[in-house]
Amino acid sequence: MRKLIPDLICASVFDIDFGDLKKRKISGLLVDIDNTLVPWGEPEMEEAFIHWVRKAQKEGFAICLVSNAKRPRAQSFADLLGIPAVGLALKPLGRAFRKGMALLNLKPHEVAVVGDQLFTDVFGGNRLGIYTILINPISRNELDSTKMMRKLERRMLERMVRRGDISPQLAQIRQGSDYDE
Ligand SMILES: [Mg+2]
Repeated sequence: MRKLIPDLICASVFDIDFGDLKKRKISGLLVDIDNTLVPWGEPEMEEAFIHWVRKAQKEGFAICLVSNAKRPRAQSFADLLGIPAVGLALKPLGRAFRKGMALLNLKPHEVAVVGDQLFTDVFGGNRLGIYTILINPISRNELDSTKMMRKLERRMLERMVRRGDISPQLAQIRQGSDYDE
């Protein structure tokens, strides 16, 4: 249960405070692709997300994409952005996150995981002691299995609030989104 608790919840990647991450001595980001940077299954990344990656780089962050999507899909966005990617990541397994950190030459306490799923991105990152940032999925289009997990995610978040593991304000960012309506 504790390994499911995100360190931070943001409405989207645009709400991530780079200054706060720097204060935490974080200089690398392991970023999910589907429903974090690109609507699930879509072939194109919107301009705003490309700009966000550029902005993060300008702020001094090294970025690696870590995605459960097939390798060609992950690589197409890596090529677009000129950054490394680990595809077919099998998150929450740690292997892909470890590979991502190796590609960036950074250690667990120097990176943050950014993703839209509690049971893959957050759980996987927490297991390795990485700072985890949960963002709201940018599309409601996703696998049926993921849709089922969303219900479980919501229940887990409610429990975290009851137990005082996350603040109601943070949980509200998630509950205020329309992903589970
Ligand atoms: Mg995702």
